[in-house]
Amino acid sequence: MSAILQSYLRGQWAAPAKDLAEIPSAIDGAVIAKTGSSGSDFAEAVRYARETGGKNLRALTFHQRADILKKLAAYLSEKKEPLYALAAHTGATKRDNMVDIEGGIGTLFAYASRGRRDLPAEKFIVEGPNEQLSKGGKFAGTHILTPRAGIAVHINAFNFPVWGPLEKFAPAFLAGIPVITKPATASAYVSEALMRLIVESKLLPDGALQMICGPTGDLLDHLNGQDSLCFTGSIETSDKLRNHPAVSKNAVRFVAERDSLNAAILGTDAAPGTPEFDLFIKEVVREMTVKAGQKCTAIRRVFVPRAQEAAVIDALKAQLSAIKIGDPRVEDTRMGALVSMTQKRSVQEKVREIASEAEIVFGDPAASGTDDAALKGGAFISPVLLRCAKPMDAKRVHVTEAFGPVATVMAYDTLEQAVELVAKGEGSLVASVFTYDPSVASALVFGIAPYHGRLLVIDRDSGKESTGHGSPLPYLVHGGPGRAGGGEELGGMRSVHHYLQRTAIQASPDRIVSLTKDWSKGAATVPSQEHPFRKDFDTLVIGDTIETAARKVSLEDIEHFANFTGDTFYAHMDEAAAKANPFFPGRVAHGYLILSFAAGLFVEPAPGPVLANYGLDNLRFLKPVSPGDDIRVRLTVKQKQDARKPEYGEVRWDVEVFNQDSETVARYELLTMNARRAA
Ligand code: NAP
Repeated sequence: MSAILQSYLRGQWAAPAKDLAEIPSAIDGAVIAKTGSSGSDFAEAVRYARETGGKNLRALTFHQRADILKKLAAYLSEKKEPLYALAAHTGATKRDNMVDIEGGIGTLFAYASRGRRDLPAEKFIVEGPNEQLSKGGKFAGTHILTPRAGIAVHINAFNFPVWGPLEKFAPAFLAGIPVITKPATASAYVSEALMRLIVESKLLPDGALQMICGPTGDLLDHLNGQDSLCFTGSIETSDKLRNHPAVSKNAVRFVAERDSLNAAILGTDAAPGTPEFDLFIKEVVREMTVKAGQKCTAIRRVFVPRAQEAAVIDALKAQLSAIKIGDPRVEDTRMGALVSMTQKRSVQEKVREIASEAEIVFGDPAASGTDDAALKGGAFISPVLLRCAKPMDAKRVHVTEAFGPVATVMAYDTLEQAVELVAKGEGSLVASVFTYDPSVASALVFGIAPYHGRLLVIDRDSGKESTGHGSPLPYLVHGGPGRAGGGEELGGMRSVHHYLQRTAIQASPDRIVSLTKDWSKGAATVPSQEHPFRKDFDTLVIGDTIETAARKVSLEDIEHFANFTGDTFYAHMDEAAAKANPFFPGRVAHGYLILSFAAGLFVEPAPGPVLANYGLDNLRFLKPVSPGDDIRVRLTVKQKQDARKPEYGEVRWDVEVFNQDSETVARYELLTMNARRAA
């Protein structure tokens, strides 16, 4: 961190010349840094991202980018300690900061491993299989996904200065898109320190990541239809950005994650004394107090069966009064401060709005919750629990987000009413359902799913291992409909796809193979003189094919296989019973026998470059094989892919098994590891 925060633009650190804003520490109000962006040339920053960053990133494959993400995650893991000390000034305790810092680094690791596993060692993705578009079979269609020739601007909220930028950066980088990221001013000193570590690592290609500390000036004016704008923050700013002339006119892809009135619902079965009741109380208190409630996913609305309302309020009050509020750097502090006095005033105002429809049953929004004189200038606030007596008639409690340790308890009379109440939030990121009753779980989950991006169903079985209501996970969707912004920041490969352009390609099957390097039925095969199992990975050509001789399947084969494996299912062993089945003409061969015979037909047995068969994909048995049928196999190289290790590559084979009438009886993709050519 520097006393005056600098932006990192066009490969250089740039200090603002004037118009500096002061950033106070949340702990005591002392100025911890100053920030501004005057003098920065955003047109040039956009151009640098587009021309240098985009070019560098698009030169890499998905796997190469995944490898860089992994190295960056490892580097940050080693160097992260100073971030903790700094982040305490945002009011966050060590436990809060673990969510932010470890969560951010963990997200990089997660995308690195998914990128390696789920994306090809290519610069594009093929979404097959081909669709045949003409009767003659010479015109087909498929889809490809390529990195858009643009940039991504990421604008973040103050509450996760490490996780926020990293969880947006990881999928964009994996997709091959250069990023300009802007942290929220209130905690920008932590994000700037993170950026310094990233720059020091020298791991990212030039132009892959730039950071603006301070206002974004005319940045958005320079965005065009190849660009994306991803925002996390308030509904008001989201509206401004979405309606920015360049964003709307140029159809800049816009994703927003914003205010969310997330709910926790206690099931009708979860009375005091049940594990679900205890888990519910614990989770509500945790969500109110972690990061002092400054989490987009925090529980704001607490729905309980009317019969349990008083017991829930008593239990919450008991646990909230045990929360120690104070200096976040002190080990036993359970709740630190809000990020700033501005934020504290905003929370107090929002509590006043909610209180017009509810009564405060615990806490005092005017109180700091700590009598430590050293913290007098800090943005501390006591947790506030409210109770709304008439939630069906209320409006504000459902749509007013106090971004602090504030929640409102509301009673419901029926499960249908609980669903109606949850829906009054107008779309949320997440909700939790606490029940051990399958019918209660089903009524609530299917009732409220349309209003949410993520749902947790917590009970005595999952409670202990649950990652919690408030933690978005990189593999699962994070985002929600309506008020929550309609975006999807996370979600595994879905969030990578946000940055790619999907294009339908219509052409002959052969042209599609030459473009996509993915063989599909209908494209020409390359008859292989030498058995393809004798060819190393580098010699194999997409479309290399062998057609095997035929083999008769006899009744003895079927009986032998049945007795040998123990699979004496009636369709293979009992003529009358098989005939009675509408799908079989009489006794038929086992599907697994067909697979085994197919392998016997196409395998080249001598030691050679095929190292291992590691699976089958998309297996279908399409027609029964009767005793006396002759089967034969066509084996074709469909795709080749570099593997993690330099010694071998992965080959996907298209396998089609025919009968004597050339009808397809089985089809699947065989996956093998093949040795590379000796150097
Ligand atoms: P905010 O005031 O909307 O600010 C969010 C970001 O937008 C900040 O980086 C801010 O920069 C920037 N910004 C503000 N006006 C802008 C403009 N005209 N042009 C470009 N950028 C602009 O929200 P916040 O106070 O930081 O965050 C709290 C809100 O975020 C809460 O409402 C919370 O619900 C929401 N949130 C949502 C999620 C989610 O995933 N859904 C996560 C976290 C927070 P400056 O700070 O420099 O003004």
